[in-house]
Amino acid sequence: MNTPEKIKCLIIGSGPAGFTAAIYAARADMSPVLYQGMQPGGQLTTTNEVENFPGYPQGISGPEMMVELETQAKRFDTDVRFGFINKVDFTGPIHKCWTEEGHEIHAETVIISTGASAKYLGLESEQKYLLNGGGVSACAVCDGFFYRGQEVVIVGAGDSACEEAHYLSKLCTKVTMLVRKDDFRASKIMADRVKKTENITILFNTDTEEVLGDGNGVTGALVKNSSTGEIATIPCTGFFVAIGHTPNTDIFKGYIDLDETGYIKYAQPGTSKTNVAGVFVAGDAADKTYRQAITAAGTGCMAALDAERYLAALEH
Ligand code: NDP
Repeated sequence: MNTPEKIKCLIIGSGPAGFTAAIYAARADMSPVLYQGMQPGGQLTTTNEVENFPGYPQGISGPEMMVELETQAKRFDTDVRFGFINKVDFTGPIHKCWTEEGHEIHAETVIISTGASAKYLGLESEQKYLLNGGGVSACAVCDGFFYRGQEVVIVGAGDSACEEAHYLSKLCTKVTMLVRKDDFRASKIMADRVKKTENITILFNTDTEEVLGDGNGVTGALVKNSSTGEIATIPCTGFFVAIGHTPNTDIFKGYIDLDETGYIKYAQPGTSKTNVAGVFVAGDAADKTYRQAITAAGTGCMAALDAERYLAALEH
């Protein structure tokens, strides 16, 4: 049997939360080990241009920004590793974690920054135009600006879809909202706001058949009314998907307190603490509200500082 590797700080996930935690933990001499996970760089690697992260006045591409964050984390000797953690045991004072290859790690502190994944419709045409800023996006706040003065479509009927449709209505000439049932799932106040907004058209009972494009970018959406069977084409240059996110927290079930939708619950608001002493959370794995690179980075910093204080208290 292999001897478990003993470390002070394990960071699980490599988005802005994970790398920021790594920069702080490494500079505090915690010798962090960071596992990159299934999607090295996280959700930003599918974002074309990031214009709202302070400190980049000219903007930066999502993948480039992740390379810079990784370089900065490595500069202070963060041990960045390929692979992912697929099993944990947080029942004892030492937190046990296993990689997919069965390597066992005993960590005094763990920072969970596994993020969340946007849900997509699953159409081939949608995935095609998701790449390289082709016109499909799962984040209106990130990408809406690129479609100002243009017509866009947004799919979804929850609070996120309503909030994002309203956000887009201020930038775009026309927003068409595609709702698959005959009503919203969103809270009444959010749905009413959308209904009252002049340049938002809501199409109920409407499914997306295809995202249309010219090979370089989106040109429209082919939709079908599920009650009448009628097919229509809606011209648009941006196609936004707001049908929910899935937090990547499955492996923590049974150890870490999750809410009913799988997001990690903070044990103490205003900190990064979970219900397990020595285990902290940062970024979208615990955030269904803000979901921004900058908020993820901020909570990554908090998690590293909380982990450092936890270790200091153990030593005294
Ligand atoms: P939700 O799970 O609440 O809603 C997802 C929506 O997407 C539903 O309307 C669902 O339709 C629709 N949908 C799912 N799959 C498809 C599909 N394949 N095709 C078309 N439509 C689909 O996710 P949200 O991200 O909106 O919200 C998540 C949580 O965050 C909620 O608790 C919400 O209240 C909260 N939130 C709160 C905000 C606020 O208060 N400011 C802002 C944003 C989110 P259907 O209804 O038919 O199932």
